[in-house]
Amino acid sequence: MNPEFIKVVAFAAEKHKTQRRKDADSSPYINHPIALANVLANEGGIIDHNVLCAAVLHDTIEDTQTTAEELRGLFGDKITSIVLEVTDDKSIKDKAVRKQLQVEHAPHASHEAKLVKLADKICNLRDILASPPANWDSERKLEYFKWAERVVAGVRGTNAYLEKIFDALLVEGNKSFS
Ligand code: NDP
Ligand code: ZN
Repeated sequence: MNPEFIKVVAFAAEKHKTQRRKDADSSPYINHPIALANVLANEGGIIDHNVLCAAVLHDTIEDTQTTAEELRGLFGDKITSIVLEVTDDKSIKDKAVRKQLQVEHAPHASHEAKLVKLADKICNLRDILASPPANWDSERKLEYFKWAERVVAGVRGTNAYLEKIFDALLVEGNKSFS
């Protein structure tokens, strides 16, 4: 067991402690970053410590008060740079523009960031299938699946296991929401 990984989990849990997911049960937000690390390690076969730590931290800068300097001081440059690569620029107020930028930036991301992106999309598609945001209709769910497909098109060739899992979810989403 790696002590730094436990430190990362404790840090992310503290940062996300007041947040909830958008599902009907308002699940604790931290379930999501932990799910990413679980998918990477136990479905993607990823053992890269920096990738697993970045997965747990992936929404801290975007969705909490955490700064890059804070992450750098605690966890170093490499983990921080992966987190920054998967962090949307919230100074761009138009969400549609931010979503389009994810599509455009994905092919240029590092291998490590592509893995985190793949796991993030897998986890969000699973959530939309099993515990979706409370007020989303089928059209909105399908729209999200189509956007995720466009982001993941830019990271293909990164991990065959994860891409296969993602593709199976796309089929399921198309069946359920079309
Ligand atoms: P949001 O970005 O508001 O919600 C999706 C994000 O919420 C996910 O990427 C995930 O992000 C997080 N999340 C939290 N809980 C869940 C959950 N249970 N299941 C899945 N994801 C969850 O929505 P959109 O991605 O749809 O972005 C808005 C866009 O949607 C606009 O650009 C617009 O085009 C479109 N839109 C469509 C509408 C419609 O009715 N068709 C209405 C309004 C907007 P994370 O991994 O970061 O936690
Ligand atoms: Zn996420």
